[in-house]
Amino acid sequence: MLVDSHCHLNFPELVQNMDQVLDTMRSNEVGHALCVSVTLDKFPEVLAIAEQHPNIYASVGVHPDYEDIQEPTVEELVRLANHPRVVAIGETGLDYFRLTGDLEWQRHRFRTHIRAAKATGKPLIIHTRNAAEDTLRLMQEEGAAEVGGVMHCFTESWEVAQAAIEMGFYISFSGIVTFKNAQSLKDVAQKVPLDKILVETDSPYLAPIPFRGKTNQPAYVRHVAEEVARLRDVPLQQFMETTTANFFKLFKHAQPCKSLS
Ligand SMILES: [Zn+2]
Ligand SMILES: [Zn+2]
Repeated sequence: MLVDSHCHLNFPELVQNMDQVLDTMRSNEVGHALCVSVTLDKFPEVLAIAEQHPNIYASVGVHPDYEDIQEPTVEELVRLANHPRVVAIGETGLDYFRLTGDLEWQRHRFRTHIRAAKATGKPLIIHTRNAAEDTLRLMQEEGAAEVGGVMHCFTESWEVAQAAIEMGFYISFSGIVTFKNAQSLKDVAQKVPLDKILVETDSPYLAPIPFRGKTNQPAYVRHVAEEVARLRDVPLQQFMETTTANFFKLFKHAQPCKSLS
């Protein structure tokens, strides 16, 4: 069985079709999914989904693309993360692509998340876009290696992947790796050690081929897995087993749902 290590099930496109989304996961051998928070005001929705479904986990955090919203404090994140269904802190990080200008507030918010992750012992889900250098620098300065985590929806170079792996981070590939114009990312997917790889959908966005342009859903992580397994020339079964084991090793607060095996 596979795990979708990053999705947004509480977004309207998915939450309105939850039964069908869960059925499709099952029929594609996708056993578990991690539903990732992007703002504090939507966190209760994310947590409710994880409380209702034993194979769905939650994270708590505030995405770097949301500027004018309630700013989290370390204390607030620690308090909200103190729940058995919350297995990670994020998504957090830096995004210099979507937003420009003085982004000191993004760096401050990112540091807050790293401190909360260290305080809770729950790993980080890191989003980085056009900001790899600062992302790695802040991870260093704040000692993110102490808690580890995942570089989600990875689109950076092999050098960036290596630097993150050295800090105890996993590299998660999304549907982008299936796109024909993503040759440099395909090269990275061949190089990352298998025991450091996760797969994700980031649904409802970024549907993999053959669903590109449509609404994405956790079941489609199967197509991401098939492509990375093909690129590495490993049997799909072995790839599924290893990446699932990687997920539960990293997110150690996530208990596998017994009724699935
Ligand atoms: Zn993201
Ligand atoms: Zn996301």
